Amino acid sequence: MKINDKTFVPYIRENELQEAILSIAQAINRDYADRKPMLIAVLNGAFMFASDLIKCLDIEVEVSFVKVKSYEGTQSSGKVKQLFGLDAPLEGKDVILLEDIVDTGHTVQYLIKLLEEKKPASISIASLLFKPDALQIPVDLQYKGIEIPNIFVVGYGLDYDGFGRQYKEIYCLEE
Ligand code: 5GP
Repeated sequence: MKINDKTFVPYIRENELQEAILSIAQAINRDYADRKPMLIAVLNGAFMFASDLIKCLDIEVEVSFVKVKSYEGTQSSGKVKQLFGLDAPLEGKDVILLEDIVDTGHTVQYLIKLLEEKKPASISIASLLFKPDALQIPVDLQYKGIEIPNIFVVGYGLDYDGFGRQYKEIYCLEE
């Protein structure tokens, strides 16, 4: 599969992604059985993960979005920009942040700080993918899907320069 100047090859199959999502959903169903959490999906990358995850939940939830940007091409810029969101009142709410991927940890750290200012009762993080070798800031990930090495991936919501989000599988750069 080619996007602009780069070639990508299949890396994580659709059924493996869906199994990981189901097990996160089951854990959330169990942990929040008597609560009504506010799910906040981090756009753009987490839109597919959020959509599939939410369909597997059997508890009542609220859903909201925040849009941030930190990647340029295939590299994290290290700086995070909030583009919109977090306008909903969160005081006293149990918030679950839905991320597509945790890489350096800057995005999650930035969002946690913003969320804390709104005085929620609790904050937890669910990430579909996680690159432990790329982490620069310790991140407390309560719900972790699939660990991957420090490689660049696209598909299932994740882009390369704006393209490649529509695929049901995850692809990585060809060697
Ligand atoms: P962090 O701030 O943890 O370095 O990066 C988090 C954000 O960078 C993710 O939400 C995602 O948008 C983007 N990102 C990190 N790794 C990758 C990757 O391998 N591929 C793509 N397409 N985006 C990534």
